[in-house]
Amino acid sequence: MLVWIDQDLCTGDGLCTDHCPELFRILEDGISYVVDPAGHALSDPGGAECTVPVGAKLERAAIDAALDCPGECIFIEAEHPPAAGGFGR
Ligand code: SF4
Repeated sequence: MLVWIDQDLCTGDGLCTDHCPELFRILEDGISYVVDPAGHALSDPGGAECTVPVGAKLERAAIDAALDCPGECIFIEAEHPPAAGGFGR
């Protein structure tokens, strides 16, 4: 699972950091950024170009953060999308 934030929509309320401080961090500009596995907030440039993997232990917290995000700006993607056609063909 992968996660990124659209900073243009972020309100800076900090709900994501309440849910999962390991994955989200508010920087000096008052906006939230994702944190990479080495602990660095990815703010250059941020947005969809800064996507980080989510470990299994943090998946639930990341999903809860996305569901609660008032800016609807936390995006979660499958790391390996299912093949076209899918089930039952
Ligand atoms: S919960 Fe959403 S709007 Fe609030 S600080 Fe985090 S990313 Fe920004």
